[in-house]
This record gives sequence, C-alpha cells and structure tokens, in this order.
Amino acid sequence: MTTSENARKPILAANWKMHKTVQESVDFVTALLPLVEGAQGVDIVIAPPFTALERVGTALAGSAVQLAAQNVNPEEKGAFTGEVAPSMLEDVGCRLAIVGHSERRALFGESSEFVARKTAALLERSIQAIVCVGETLAEREADRAFSVIEEQLKGSLALVPDDRGGELVIAYEPVWAIGTGKTATPDMAQEMHAFIRAQLGKRFPSDADSIRIQYGGSVKPDNVRDLMSRADIDGALVGGASLDPQSFAQIALFEA
Ligand code: PEP
Repeated sequence: MTTSENARKPILAANWKMHKTVQESVDFVTALLPLVEGAQGVDIVIAPPFTALERVGTALAGSAVQLAAQNVNPEEKGAFTGEVAPSMLEDVGCRLAIVGHSERRALFGESSEFVARKTAALLERSIQAIVCVGETLAEREADRAFSVIEEQLKGSLALVPDDRGGELVIAYEPVWAIGTGKTATPDMAQEMHAFIRAQLGKRFPSDADSIRIQYGGSVKPDNVRDLMSRADIDGALVGGASLDPQSFAQIALFEA
C-alpha cells in the first residue's frame, strides 16, 4: 500500500432512499450512535430523505457521524417546484450530497450534464459531492462497462475546477448489483476502481490518489471487509443494508 492509499480515510455511507419517517429516522440514529461511538479512522455518513434531514442533523449533533442529502438541484432559488437548493442543504447542516445515483439517472432522466451542474453547485457551497457512476447489465455484457464509466465520469465532472478534484467522492455502483443481492466480486470492483482512478488521474493529476472511491451494490456486513481490502476501494455506499442500525454499524465498523 502506498502512502496516498493509507491517507484515504474509509467512507461508509447509508443511502436510505425513500424509506423512513422522521420518527423512524431519529430512532435509527438513537440506536446507531452508541454502536459506533468511538469509531476512529472512518467517516460515517447518513443520507435520510429530505423530510428527515433537519431532525437527523439535530440527533447527530455532537457525534462524528455526518449528514448527507440524497439529491440537490443546481439552482440557488426560483420557480423549481419540488426541488431543493444547495443553500437549503447547507442550512440544515448537510456536509455531503449524493448526485447522479443510477435511480435518478434511470427513473428521472438525469443526464451527466445535469449531474455536472449539481456537482459544481455543491462545490460552491463546500458540500462534498458523492458522484455516482455505474453501468447496466446490458452494458457490461456488451463489453461497454469501461467506456460507459469513462463517459459518465467525464460528463459528471466536467464543471469541477481543475484544482478541486480532491474534494470529491466517487461512488462506483454497477446498476445490476443495486438492490439485487448480486455484488460485484472484489476483483471486479477493484478492476473498475483502478480504472476510475486512472481516469481521475487524467483530469486531476495531483489529486487522483487522494480521491475516495466507494463501491455500492448489495454491500452487507458479510462482504464489506473483503471489498474494503482492495487497494482502490475506499468505502461503501449502502442502500438496503443501511436501513437497520445493527447492520449499518457492522458495515461502518468493518475493520473492528
Ligand atoms: C444504493 O442504492 O446506492 C445501493 C448500493 O443499494 P443496495 O445496497 O441496496 O444495493
């Protein structure tokens, strides 16, 4: 392991998607915090639905667990019914926001160009973007996984200033592994993560080694350690297994 690999602090993030009421969210935090108290050397992040952000932020106050949003609109204000601006996320204490999740790309038609605008808008507010990329099963079977990821990265990071790459987190989430119980093998994930880091190296030559790349896709307590043992896998973005505090705590404390 190189010095720069050692410097990448693991980042384990819970993406609750459209799950949990405000009370359920607060109950989760109440159960989680004692389980992860004293966890050192990892960043633990929770992305609840928008409705629970403020109360979860209050419940997390004083802990090291960080609050994230699942989405953002790049505009600062205006006639954008149903949308939430970066300043509003800042207002409730979000330190990070997920952008470009495959569900948003596939179900809500979001393009890499739109993801690029979101990423740039978050940087303006010093909210860390977790930029998701991932290929579908059809794309992998057609031998297009690497070119798809290259395109998504290029498009989604197009508006990041050259000297700010180090502020990003990238999440590689093969679409065929999300919520399906199928996980990329650690070797498959590592191969793609190394490819992603090489692409980041072209765009951000001095920062690529310090950018954390999360794996996402059916991460669970029993596979996280193996995934995290690979050189370029620096964290996990977790959906289903993050909904239960015990399960997410085991993932967050994978090294223990
Ligand atoms: C996700 O939604 O980011 C995800 C990886 O989900 P799951 O862990 O359920 O596959």
